[in-house]
Amino acid sequence: EPALDGEYVRRWLAAATAAIERESDHLTELDSPIGDADHGANMRRGFTAASAAVGKEPPQTPGATLALVGRQLIGSVGGASGPLYGTLLRRAGKALGDGPTVTPGELCTALRAGVDGVAQLGRSERGDKTMLDALYPAVEALGSALDSGAGLVAALAAARTAAEEGAVATVPMQARKGRASYLGERSIGHQDPGATSAALLIAALGEAAGE
Ligand code: ADP
Ligand code: MG
Ligand code: MG
Repeated sequence: EPALDGEYVRRWLAAATAAIERESDHLTELDSPIGDADHGANMRRGFTAASAAVGKEPPQTPGATLALVGRQLIGSVGGASGPLYGTLLRRAGKALGDGPTVTPGELCTALRAGVDGVAQLGRSERGDKTMLDALYPAVEALGSALDSGAGLVAALAAARTAAEEGAVATVPMQARKGRASYLGERSIGHQDPGATSAALLIAALGEAAGE
């Protein structure tokens, strides 16, 4: 199993940025019927800025690296997703502390703190048809896999599956938060763009671990 160090977080950022670039058009397509067709562009702008900042002056620790990515997302993304993902990563980074490496359990606890930060800032909860519908299942799957003795790579694979299933499960939901909620019942039948990008970010955690 790989060490969860600053280099691991940089590999995650590279994998996440590549996935966002690859899926940018798809994310924007998902944001057309129930939003304002900018989610792909927003995510792309944010992760490009974060990659540039981390590449220019890579922080020493995993916590500081995640926090820097979070600040870049907040500073560069105009849409709702910027402050929400930014808060997730800043909170998670802070929760990781300033050690050079963290354990899988500490990563899980930090992600949970980050996801709770999204819910707090967004005044949202599971079932609202948002990124939380991918993030909560992912953190729960990661936690139960680790609790039952799975290694990091297997636990991250379980988190990825849960996030992808969580994103698909937003299709029949009626949105209660964000732009999609303005559509009321007409938001039903579409997959939430933020839940879809969240699944990409979770999948990148496994890729960075050498899945
Ligand atoms: P905007 O809606 O400002 O254009 P984006 O298109 O980049 O921003 O992001 C939209 C996504 O943000 C939604 O698909 C949803 O997952 C997420 N989102 C919006 N509002 C909230 C909220 N209050 N809580 C959690 N997630 C939210
Ligand atoms: Mg949008
Ligand atoms: Mg917008």
